[in-house]
Amino acid sequence: MTPSPDIDVAIAGAGVIGASTAWHLAQAGLRVAIIDAEGPAAAASGASDGAVSVASKKPGVMARLASASLAHTATLAKGGPLSRAFRRRPSFLFGQGPEEAAALDALAAKLAQIGGPVSVENDGGAALLPGCGMGVDRIVRLMGEGHMPGHKAVHGYLASAGDRVQRIWPARLKGHEADATGVTLDLGMSQLRAGFLIVAAGLGAGELWPQLPLIPRAGQLIVTDSGPAGVLPGALTAAAYLLAKTRDGAPPPRPPVVIDPLSTGQYLVGSTREAHGDPRLNDFATIAALMERAAAVWPPLLGRRIIRIFTGVRAAVADGLPVFGTLPDSPRVLLATGFEGDGICLSALIGREAARIACGDGVTAGLEADLAALSPTRFTKHARWGAA
Ligand SMILES: Cc1cc2nc3c(=O)[nH]c(=O)nc-3n(C[C@H](O)[C@H](O)[C@H](O)COP(=O)(O)OP(=O)(O)OC[C@H]3O[C@@H](n4cnc5c(N)ncnc54)[C@H](O)[C@@H]3O)c2cc1C
Repeated sequence: MTPSPDIDVAIAGAGVIGASTAWHLAQAGLRVAIIDAEGPAAAASGASDGAVSVASKKPGVMARLASASLAHTATLAKGGPLSRAFRRRPSFLFGQGPEEAAALDALAAKLAQIGGPVSVENDGGAALLPGCGMGVDRIVRLMGEGHMPGHKAVHGYLASAGDRVQRIWPARLKGHEADATGVTLDLGMSQLRAGFLIVAAGLGAGELWPQLPLIPRAGQLIVTDSGPAGVLPGALTAAAYLLAKTRDGAPPPRPPVVIDPLSTGQYLVGSTREAHGDPRLNDFATIAALMERAAAVWPPLLGRRIIRIFTGVRAAVADGLPVFGTLPDSPRVLLATGFEGDGICLSALIGREAARIACGDGVTAGLEADLAALSPTRFTKHARWGAA
């Protein structure tokens, strides 16, 4: 006889996706356990920039989901779990050279046409942001987007969920067995029985299911000392990001860069995209090149000192879309991983939808097709899933 569940839902991974899911489940009154191999925000969520950006997303599924997630994030920030994590602020995209300027014009036209939470201004030149460096040909200003450091979001979700969520760390999910009434989790020294399992383990999901085409993509970031706040009123992002997402993997003419003014008066400058998964690797040549590029675009950076550098590792998926949905042969196991450089932005929506599925409610009306596009069933032609 199979034992009855100790808890309703177990979540493996206390990054921003797992923490958001835990909070949404607790709100629905479920008994939840969140398990992490290290601790909260130990991986990508604790070592990233936090742009909650719709404009930077690939048009289509990702842009629509980001738009819905931005709206939900803003709601959760109004006295809810994200009130100390999310802040709205303007953001700027800059273009250098004709290809980037054309990409910005196309983006501005598209955003103006579709309406939605993000409004756009495009003055045809660089006058919207005085102080930019020589060689910036075009600035587009966006209103309605925001910023949310991943570690603050994780803390906000877990603190607001209170003791409705049992925290288990350090403990690693090593495997599971699903049956008709629940899932038995193998945590090495112990087992846990849950009604439903959500695996939000970032790159760790690739150790459980090696057939998942997850690719580590490291990014180095810089934090400067603090100075007068407000000189740069919002994040300044290279149009190269737009090109990188629409060129099917071919590198853009110039490397992407984001210059983010933090509420402390510091700048966060990021980030590289490197083909490895080691968060300990920082190298000074790359950091110097990143800072040089950023200071050429935003000269006030020349007066700042670098006080910290760090590396985070994104979990990318070979086909460029995250993985979200129940496993084809285990309807009590949901996988949510592969959010690459978009997980902070998407976390509010993904947590809400994962909780709805675990509660048996199905996804929010209107999101069915977009979420179905992320389903792990797209890899079943090549793989058997079974127990991890
Ligand atoms: C340099 C950089 C810049 C970024 N900038 C942005 C940005 O501006 N905007 C944006 O939206 N996103 C950004 N991202 C992406 C974002 O940080 C990630 O998509 C997001 O944090 C992923 O969250 P997650 O919860 O899926 O995974 P993670 O944060 O990686 O969390 C996974 C957790 O699972 C745990 N774990 C792993 N294996 C197991 C196991 N077997 N059992 C138990 N626990 C396990 C880990 O310890 C970890 O705590 C950036 C990322 C990087 C690296």
